[in-house]
Amino acid sequence: MYINCIHCGHKFDIGRSYDDYEGPVRCATCRGMLTIRTEDGSIRAVRSGISDSASIPAPRLASEESSQAPASQQAA
Ligand SMILES: [Zn+2]
Repeated sequence: MYINCIHCGHKFDIGRSYDDYEGPVRCATCRGMLTIRTEDGSIRAVRSGISDSASIPAPRLASEESSQAPASQQAA
């Protein structure tokens, strides 16, 4: 599957592993970051940069598990 880079305009192949994917990819030509959303092997959205929703979650501290602090917040 080919992505049209917003930054440099080149097309680059991201392969079959991104047929159903949402998150960051890096352009092989200009190394610019794109955030893409694909579904069933077709492009649904391409944005420049890394979106907040696709960012990597912060690592959890293992010590939080047994501390007296309230349990981790969970969005209802
Ligand atoms: Zn590019």
